[in-house]
Amino acid sequence: MYKVTKEIHFCYGHRLLDYEGRCAHPHGHNGKIEIELGAETLDGRGMVYDFGDIKEIIHKWVDHQLDHRMILRKGDPLVKALKDLGEPYFEMEENPTAESLARLVYDYAKSKKLPINKVIFWETTSSSAAYSGC
Ligand SMILES: [Zn+2]
Repeated sequence: MYKVTKEIHFCYGHRLLDYEGRCAHPHGHNGKIEIELGAETLDGRGMVYDFGDIKEIIHKWVDHQLDHRMILRKGDPLVKALKDLGEPYFEMEENPTAESLARLVYDYAKSKKLPINKVIFWETTSSSAAYSGC
């Protein structure tokens, strides 16, 4: 199988609910998303998928939806506060852990019909979580 990987770097804030530890408080990360696509055969251009197209689809979405936003679980009281202040945020069903953010990106890539194998979400340079759907 052929595989290609694209990295996307972005900044985000979050906090975790029902959690005791430093991540229970609002704070930020320089996150890195590694997107791995795979295919048994190459297309007419000799590619699994064009890096530029991955950037156009995924990077653009990350820029608009996640970059420089507070990522919060639905029901977090901070959502209302940020909304009232007109500040950017992104709401999700799960606690915004590296694991659930990896799944979020994976599901988005899948919804855009990318031949996605795996998403690795780096919360820091030494801590990552992966989601592969199987
Ligand atoms: Zn954190």
